[in-house]
Amino acid sequence: MKQPQENSPLCFAKIIGQDKAKKLLQRAVAQGRLSHAFLFKGPMGVGKKTLTRTFAAALNCHKPEGDEPCGQCPSCRKFRSGSHPDFIVIEPDGATIKINQVRELKKALAFPPFEAKLRVALLCDIHTMRREAANSLLKILEEPPDQTMLILTGDEAGVILPTILSRCQTVPFFPLPQAEVAKILTLEAGIEMENAATLAAMAEGSLGRARLLLAKDLLGLRREIVETLLHLEPDTPAAIQALGELAESAAKLKEDLGELLELLTTWLHDLLLFGHGAAGSIINHDLSPTFPAACRRWSGSQLSERLQLLDTARKQLARNCNPTAVCEVLFFGLL
Ligand SMILES: [Zn+2]
Repeated sequence: MKQPQENSPLCFAKIIGQDKAKKLLQRAVAQGRLSHAFLFKGPMGVGKKTLTRTFAAALNCHKPEGDEPCGQCPSCRKFRSGSHPDFIVIEPDGATIKINQVRELKKALAFPPFEAKLRVALLCDIHTMRREAANSLLKILEEPPDQTMLILTGDEAGVILPTILSRCQTVPFFPLPQAEVAKILTLEAGIEMENAATLAAMAEGSLGRARLLLAKDLLGLRREIVETLLHLEPDTPAAIQALGELAESAAKLKEDLGELLELLTTWLHDLLLFGHGAAGSIINHDLSPTFPAACRRWSGSQLSERLQLLDTARKQLARNCNPTAVCEVLFFGLL
């Protein structure tokens, strides 16, 4: 159980975007009318955890300023440093939240809070949960222990069990304005505005995804894969070696491998758009000089087949198949 160690402010007003969620939560703080379980639903990396932390701090602040936490009292200081004993954060262990993690949470919640007026347990990426773990959560979700609020986060695209949905108040989250994401990236990482804008577009308004793309140099690996696919002939020793090496690099991404597959998917979509003369909608602008050659190399139906291969790879990874082997088969198929 770890806590987010972000530099983000402990203040609703300073959090970018999510006006609807902020308004709803601030009203809940001000009126003291609180649901015992919330589901924060929306794309990854748009501020769900940051907002949870601020919400939890506001609920426990000793000297709140209206509906904002003061940021200075002992409780707020612990929320800021990520050391509050009554703010429990559970993130997926590997690909999913496991049933053991839910059992441990239940054990921890059987005791009263250490010091908080309202203890907050945050369960992240609930859409990754298998049915067994989700079922184990249901009872506590229906009737959380005293002085305890559960906040679940889930991806809008993921599947969340109806039994979980029906027990939570859902708060919708939305992609952030891309210009805002780009601005933050230039400030945080000191990168040029043009690159920041490309990253923000690829991350579809998710600051978390944009940071991930940048930190793991996923765009660099995507470019390397695309260029290799464009310049090698199938079934040659050079192709076998180069694609084998790229598969190994890709497999090292571990839980972030899915992001790379997403990037390759957007690239294939871009090629289809380009082939249909709809270049205005493409996302991978930095690769556009290679589009004419790529469209000569692969027909529209071949591009569609390649999109299917990416889908198959995603399913295999979800079933815990060996990532290096999955990537090898995928890259050879894409060639
Ligand atoms: Zn405070």
